Amino acid sequence: MTDLQPAHAASVLFEQLTGHAPAGIWSAPGRVNLIGEHTDYNDGFVLPFAIPHRTYAAVGMRDDDRIRVASTFAADAPVEVALAELTTLFPTRAGEEPAVAEWAAYPLGVAWALQLAGAAGAGVDIAISSDVPVGAGLSSSAAIESATASALNDLWDAGLDRTALARIGRRSENEAVGAPTGIMDQMASMLGEPDAAIFLDCRTLDANLVRVGVAEAGLAILVMDTRVQHSHSTGGYRERRDSCEHGAAIMGVPSLRDVSVDDLARAEGLMDDVTFRRVRHVVTENQRVLDTVSTLRESGARAIGDLLVASHASMRDDFEISVPELDTAVDAALAAGAIGARMTGGGFGGAAIALVEEESVPAVSDAVTAAFAASGFASPHIFTVTPAAGARRDS
Ligand code: ADP
Ligand code: MG
Repeated sequence: MTDLQPAHAASVLFEQLTGHAPAGIWSAPGRVNLIGEHTDYNDGFVLPFAIPHRTYAAVGMRDDDRIRVASTFAADAPVEVALAELTTLFPTRAGEEPAVAEWAAYPLGVAWALQLAGAAGAGVDIAISSDVPVGAGLSSSAAIESATASALNDLWDAGLDRTALARIGRRSENEAVGAPTGIMDQMASMLGEPDAAIFLDCRTLDANLVRVGVAEAGLAILVMDTRVQHSHSTGGYRERRDSCEHGAAIMGVPSLRDVSVDDLARAEGLMDDVTFRRVRHVVTENQRVLDTVSTLRESGARAIGDLLVASHASMRDDFEISVPELDTAVDAALAAGAIGARMTGGGFGGAAIALVEEESVPAVSDAVTAAFAASGFASPHIFTVTPAAGARRDS
């Protein structure tokens, strides 16, 4: 880790690595998901927004055909391979460790996925630094993928659009890292805009910006990072995906997107209790995303609190991906007057969000911190976020 601003830190690391200045600096943000959890890989709806925390990639061309990646995040030495070697390193098979240090599989996997998409270029050096909390459910993974993909797209003249670059990032995460995540995080990181959430149809990748209007309503969004590390490459996440596929197969549909709330009564009679509850979460969560979008448009942010609360209950009780720290954060925030709160991200740790009156940010933060202390949990990391810009070239 470093005390330097991440853009500067990336640049300094690049110079240490190469002895010269980078050709440019690209960055991409982490994201918060306002609502729509575990719906992305079910072809459903999500409503994330990009946050001000960003990952920076300082990148320059080499005069050979090798690729080298370094990050202030990893004490490990930089990882360097021949570009032609990437196809021998990836894909990583399910359950196996990547052939390189896991963190390096994210940016190297992006280069590999670009190669598979027909992009090719000379060797590059990539130095990365970030202020996106890692493993907190704020998608530091999409941030590193999107920053790298944006840089290589420019330097290799690949000409891919933002949606195509999001797919490149996802391919890296799924196939190079081996984490079976959906497309939401990469789309949020690529497409973010100030004051807007991205209403994404994960089946068509049709994306529409929805004004959030939190500040103008006198509200703030708090992130409560529990500091419980999650990992998507392992266990629970894949099990949930399998349950969803199983449920869709029983219902005779391609994905749970095709099951409506009205179909749930029939679904309950066709499957075991656990599968049914997984299905019910996804189906009701899709509806809550649609309801949140229309509520934001018609009535503004103050009116979405109950939808956030219902989303959390569904993840806690039906999808069973919450942990005591996340429940404590949500319950304490609501008890202290938050308008709504829910865990955000894939679950099993990470962060929760709360929608609060701007003036009650200190009181809610203190209440959550106190509740963690009373439960003997490590102190949470609490901060506010506003919807921010997506991937870009900074210099
Ligand atoms: P999240 O996306 O919620 O932060 P993930 O487990 O999906 O959590 O991704 C975190 C992983 O991404 C880290 O363990 C690391 O391997 C990689 N990563 C994220 N940011 C960086 C970075 N700045 N430098 C190197 N690797 C990073
Ligand atoms: Mg991630």
